[in-house]
Order: sequence, then structure tokens, then C-alpha cells
Amino acid sequence: MVDLVSQYEKIKPEVDTAIANVIQKAHFIKGPDVLEFEKELAQYLEVKHVIACANGTDALQIALMALGLQPGDEVITPSFTYIATVEVVALLHLKPVFVEVHKDTFTIDVSTIEAAITPKTKAIVPVHLYGQSVDMEPLEALAKKYNLPIIEDNAQAIGSTYTYSNGITKKTGSMGTIACTSFFPSKNLGCYGDGGAIMTNDDALAESIKMIANHGQSKKYYHDVVGCNSRLDTIQAAVLRIKLRLLDQYCDARRKVADYYDQAFANHPKITTPARNKNSKHVFHQYTLLIENSNRDELIQKLADVGIPSMIYYPVPAHKQKMFATLQLDTKELPTTDWLTERVISLPIHTEMDEEQLAYITSHFLKFI
Ligand SMILES: *Cc1c(COP(=O)(O)O)cnc(C)c1O
Repeated sequence: MVDLVSQYEKIKPEVDTAIANVIQKAHFIKGPDVLEFEKELAQYLEVKHVIACANGTDALQIALMALGLQPGDEVITPSFTYIATVEVVALLHLKPVFVEVHKDTFTIDVSTIEAAITPKTKAIVPVHLYGQSVDMEPLEALAKKYNLPIIEDNAQAIGSTYTYSNGITKKTGSMGTIACTSFFPSKNLGCYGDGGAIMTNDDALAESIKMIANHGQSKKYYHDVVGCNSRLDTIQAAVLRIKLRLLDQYCDARRKVADYYDQAFANHPKITTPARNKNSKHVFHQYTLLIENSNRDELIQKLADVGIPSMIYYPVPAHKQKMFATLQLDTKELPTTDWLTERVISLPIHTEMDEEQLAYITSHFLKFI
């Protein structure tokens, strides 16, 4: 689905030197690259604070902890997402309340949120799924009306933007009360192991987030709150500093692949190409098609037989996962989410794809479907 080896080959000298430098100085934990990376990412996202952490799942957990949510508090989020978004809610003994997504853009359907709000609702966690922004303007208006914080799950959309009706454009990961991202190797800004970050414009929240990510420590060996241990390794920060400079270029390469696929699959009766929210720059973490009147399992097998990987993101929506069977979530039916789950299929998309590969994939896909 991705080609991280070819991508590495192109930046190998720079990356190898940066990694060797960290090892040479034994700056493994909290080395200068971590601080520099936090500053550079803050500059890129145009956000006041970036706090690096161990992975995207931790970022979400720490964000919820920093907001001071209490057991039983409700958190509104889509079910059509990667499990990490929801798992941390349950882990903190909070209650996930699932709402629908749009069947064309796959992102949270803001019109379904208000009905899910109760006096116990304490946060909304929208997910910029597959690489484009949630429709933030109506979401922010609703959050303001009910005085609810927004935690953006930006793990799949770093580099994407959202444009408001007044013409102001912001980066995803800079709009919420808090935003979270992941540097898992296959993400749009991936490191060479695990990594994540938490963003906020709120000074007090930034302090709280830093403290929670560092054992709740206010000064060395003085622990004011229960926290956790979540750090970005210096080696990962060193790699990320190099790759951050290439992020826009990487996003453009992905968009080119998406354009190619869009054209190849246009107007096919069994294929719906991914809709692009007109207010967002789509950075295509995934290229996800909807297919109708086709045996998806058979299609995946036939593609695999000729060496073409494909994936279903995700085969089981969160509200139907076994982990929630005993939690009595009183989740209502989510027909759009279920409908999408049965129809999505994602094709390879990454920064190193060439026309030959794309022609091979599209011609076989069209033949098999
Ligand atoms: C990858 C991902 C995460 C979790 O990130 P990790 O770094 O793997 O913990 C969270 N949410 C979404 C939507 C993701 O795609």
C-alpha cells in the first residue's frame, strides 16, 4: 500500500547523518531535535503549541485527560474511523457516543451531532478521515453553542487545510481546542517507528498536556496529577525534521495519484470515486472507492493474485466491535456507516508511485470489477 523503502532511498544521506548524530551524542531522550521539531511543526501548522508524544493513540488519550473528563462523561465521535479514536475514550471510562459520517466524504455528518448531545456530553472528536478536513465551520458553531471542546483527530490528514466561508484557510490540526496526530511510518508524515503529537493554541492546556505526558510532573520528582510516560524519541524527531520539509511535496505526489485514479475510474457504473470537500485540500492518506454490485472479497483476491494490494478501511465499524459488546453503549443504528463499511475499498497510494504502476493497477481493477 506504501513504498517507504523507495522514499527513504531519496533522503538516505540526510537521514543517516541525522540518526548517526543522535546516537553519537547519545541524545536518545529529549534531545535537541525534539524541541526543534516541535517548533518547526508549530510553525508549519500555524499553531501555538506542539507537544510531541509517543504515538497518535497516546495523543488522543492525553488530550482527553487534559480536558479533565470524568468517568461516565460522553464523547461524540464517528464510528467510521480507526479504532484508536474510540478506544482511548473507553479506556478512560468515558462513554463513546457514535454519530454518522457523510456517505460521499466519509467525514463526520455535523447534522447528526445535535441529537446526540446530552447534559453529559463533554467533548466532540471529529476525524479528518482519509486525508481531508471535516466540515469545521458548522461543527465549531455547534460546539460553541453547547460550550463543548473539539479534539481533532488529524492522524490521517496532516498537510490538509480547511477554508472558512470568510476566506480564512487553516491547517487541519490547528483548529480544534486540541488536535492530535500520528507519525506512524505509513502516515503522510511518518517516522521510522512510533510517534505522535498534540497541538493547541491554549497556554494552560499546553502546560497540562506537557505535564500529563511526563508522569504528571510539575518539576523533577514532584507529581501533581496522574499522568503517563509518552515521549517522541530523538531519533524519530530527527527523521521527522527532514520529512516535514518535504511534507507539502509528499502531499502533492499523493494528490497526483488520486487525480490519475479519479480519471481512470470516472463515470464507471460500479465505482464511486472519493468526493472532495470543496472547502478542504485533500491530501489522500487513503484513496478509497465505493463499489456496488461487485463481489468485493473476490475482487481483492483477484487483485492480490496479480500483485496489487488493496485494503478495507475498516471492515468493522467501531460500534460493532466486540470490545464494546459488554459496555452497553446504547448505540443507535448507523445505517450510513454500515452501508459504507460494506462498499469501501482502498488502493495503493503513496509518494513514490509512477505511471506504469498506476496503469497496471487501474487496468486490472477495471477488468476485474
Ligand atoms: C493511525 C491513527 C491513529 C493512531 O495513531 P498511532 O500512532 O498508530 O497510535 C488514530 N486515529 C486515526 C484516525 C489513525 O489513522
